Amino acid sequence: MQTKLFIGGAFVDAVEGTTIPVLNPHDGSPIADIAEARAADIDRAVAAARAAFPAWSRMAAADRGRLLLKLADRIEEDSASLARLESLDTGHPLRDTRGLDVPRTAATFRYFGGMADKVQGSVVPVEAGFLNYVQRTPLGVVGQIVPWNFPLMFTSWKMGPALAAGNTVVLKPAELTPLSTLRIAELMAEVGFPPGVVNIVPGYGATAGQHLAEHPGVDKIAFTGSTATGRRIVQASAGNLKRVQLELGGKGANIVFEDAFLPAAINGSAFAIFHNQGQACIAGSRLLLHEKIADAFLDGFLKLAASIRVGDPMDPATEMGPLTSRQHQERVLTYCRIAHQEGGEILLGGMPPQDYALSKGFYLQPTVVRAQPQDRVCQEEVFGPFVAVSTFKNEEEAIAIANGTEYGLGGGLWTQHLQRAHRVANAMRSGMVWINCYKRVNPGSPFGGIGQSGYGREMGFEAMHDYTDAKSVWVNVDAQIPPWYPR
Ligand code: NAD
Repeated sequence: MQTKLFIGGAFVDAVEGTTIPVLNPHDGSPIADIAEARAADIDRAVAAARAAFPAWSRMAAADRGRLLLKLADRIEEDSASLARLESLDTGHPLRDTRGLDVPRTAATFRYFGGMADKVQGSVVPVEAGFLNYVQRTPLGVVGQIVPWNFPLMFTSWKMGPALAAGNTVVLKPAELTPLSTLRIAELMAEVGFPPGVVNIVPGYGATAGQHLAEHPGVDKIAFTGSTATGRRIVQASAGNLKRVQLELGGKGANIVFEDAFLPAAINGSAFAIFHNQGQACIAGSRLLLHEKIADAFLDGFLKLAASIRVGDPMDPATEMGPLTSRQHQERVLTYCRIAHQEGGEILLGGMPPQDYALSKGFYLQPTVVRAQPQDRVCQEEVFGPFVAVSTFKNEEEAIAIANGTEYGLGGGLWTQHLQRAHRVANAMRSGMVWINCYKRVNPGSPFGGIGQSGYGREMGFEAMHDYTDAKSVWVNVDAQIPPWYPR
């Protein structure tokens, strides 16, 4: 399979003609050669987005919304093939891409389609003789850079609010997983998005991504990825002082109190870390157990983790697929070695599965490690099916450990004590908290972090706010001739 760049409403070759190989994480075999966007292609895409902006931003908001709604319908019609494409490219099990990634993508586009004509301004009660109203106006051309872990869903998280608000978009998918994003571009063209409103330019971060982040023709960069790259984006954005929104790494604390309902906590904690092979910024990668229930919890948790069916993502029975790249598999294995060197105890996994049928793929067994809160494996984002377990004595200590990393994205707690639940949620330094559940997301609920997890919010009205400016208009409604000096 060969793919092209999507610029100005058409699929076009890259200016320099270079390509990037895309591999199947199940067995390392090549599945596509994608056209590689470099600086000249980014320039073309930004120019196309800029040219499309005046008409798109002036289009009736309800009409922009209607296109997003049509896209959501079209995604649902195409759901079987989109799910297969996403599984092939990323290694997500088909049961997840069918059951979560595709429906959530459609739901998010639909949510923002409905939102397009509901972004209202306000009238401010100012002094007599004046009317002051505030309009929400689109920013212009938005550059969007996303990672490889949920490429399909990110199309909707990023483009949904940006387009609904009247911006035009240049989106750079991760070089590892661009296929579903290119398919969404096809569907957008089919349902009638005008040329240039959306441009898709897969390429490497250091070239295409950096150029987009620096580009003087881009008004905002919305970035999802690692904290290290986020810092580079901020620096690159300084030239034209473009707006920046950052969804960065996380090290989610998942606290199980002594009064938790353990069967639910065990299941929820497994989903928190093993769904999508742990390649989620909001993964519950630190499991904090009250010392009184630690043994009982671990007994059930380890049994469950050991029973997870690891295998070919295209097999509908598979519960955990491969990691998305060889390089990433090696990175997670390095953390298994670090855990060992730091004196941690590997309670489960720590290596690729022994199954010969999986030996060419980028697999890793579900891994559970006992470690101390200050260890590297409890402080650094591993981004794999790797959970670090530590214990605590009381609520105060649990909160201190939970808040003891540089990150602040998502975290959870399990307790049947109503007051404790809200008290601890309130004390957690985290953009999102889940009580007796984990990793719930919904297009209406703000998503984002604090601290080194970034700033700005996706989803909900917050996202619309982040993709618009507040324009304040003052009107003199007084019948009198004003004095020369303001009252
Ligand atoms: P990454 O930062 O290496 O890459 C992310 C994207 O940035 C890719 O498209 C990449 O090509 C691009 N990029 C790389 N260098 C760049 C540069 N100098 N300038 C511009 N763009 C550049 O991250 P990754 O390893 O691909 O993804 C995993 C990370 O993403 C994890 O840290 C994870 O927590 C984070 N993430 C965060 C969220 C969130 O919403 N907070 C969601 C998913 C993933």
